[in-house]
Amino acid sequence: MKNFNLTSKIRKNIQELVPYESFRDHNSFENAVLLDANENPFGENNRYPDSTHKLLRNKLSEFKNVSAEQIFIGNGSDELLEIIIKIFCEPNKDSILMMKPSFSMYEVYAKTNAVNVNYLFLNEDFEINQEDFLKQTQNPSNKILFLCSPNNPTGNSIKDIDFYIENFNGIVVVDEAYIDFSSQNSTINLLGKYQNLIVLQTLSKAWGLAGARVGFGISSGDIAKWIYTVKSPYNVSALNQNAALKCLNDTEIYRKNLAEIIDQREILKEKFKGISIIKKVFQTDANFFLIEFEDVEKVYQKLLNNNILTSFRHPSIPNCIRINIGTSAENLKLVEILNQM
Ligand SMILES: *Cc1c(COP(=O)(O)O)cnc(C)c1O
Repeated sequence: MKNFNLTSKIRKNIQELVPYESFRDHNSFENAVLLDANENPFGENNRYPDSTHKLLRNKLSEFKNVSAEQIFIGNGSDELLEIIIKIFCEPNKDSILMMKPSFSMYEVYAKTNAVNVNYLFLNEDFEINQEDFLKQTQNPSNKILFLCSPNNPTGNSIKDIDFYIENFNGIVVVDEAYIDFSSQNSTINLLGKYQNLIVLQTLSKAWGLAGARVGFGISSGDIAKWIYTVKSPYNVSALNQNAALKCLNDTEIYRKNLAEIIDQREILKEKFKGISIIKKVFQTDANFFLIEFEDVEKVYQKLLNNNILTSFRHPSIPNCIRINIGTSAENLKLVEILNQM
């Protein structure tokens, strides 16, 4: 393992912080009279949630086969992206390094925190150019590398992830929002080897819980401690923590729906082959397709006129729209409209 000094990577003012700790959450009490947090004694949701997310981290640690101390929970993984930028980047000085095209929130959170953005422009197969990457590793302002695999909006997984983690002298965040749809191994397997690695996953996609906003990260226990130092104490509501636990306890529904989405992915792929206006369907490991059309604006508009919303927001990929896999009925409707064109 490479020499890695985590503290030296932390933004200066943050190195001095002591976490806000809810006394109640860091000690164990049974049937205590709770007069410590200015809550209302009446009602169903009257108590502040567990700021340490104990039950949820324990549950996830069983699923992911890591210790609960290595797990941290956010109000969606979006919140965690911003916290990570805050911890490792000095405003008006440091930069993040990200693939382009990729998930736009890395850029949004960097910019709202006065952090620069440097890009790794993907080639025509949506892979990173390793020479560009090695050049960027010489820039000491690059403090975090964001790799999205499978990548949104392109759908493909990034090859040779260990090469990037090995050669980047900072924190590497591998965003695995779509990993459950993929047959590729999770980068969680590399956590024992790399102390600069953070893997982000979410309950929003395959677990079907986008409305509840529950994302999580897995890293070294030391990085997880910094996340708990910097995050808002009650960042995940009790309602959302409970919704997440309920969802994780019912894996049968999860498995059934996931299998259905993956089946539909294969069915759609076949159907797309027979549609003349499609120029190219890109390979995908996710729950969406990136598709190139002859006249993309016309297709987008026609779908919209038929009340079908798709994503046409990526000027860096010309002539393409991103289309989600829906229910079989929704997918049939999509194919029917495309066939009319
Ligand atoms: C959807 C998505 C997320 C955000 O997930 P939340 O947990 O809902 O905030 C993160 N990364 C990528 C690449 C996504 O597509």
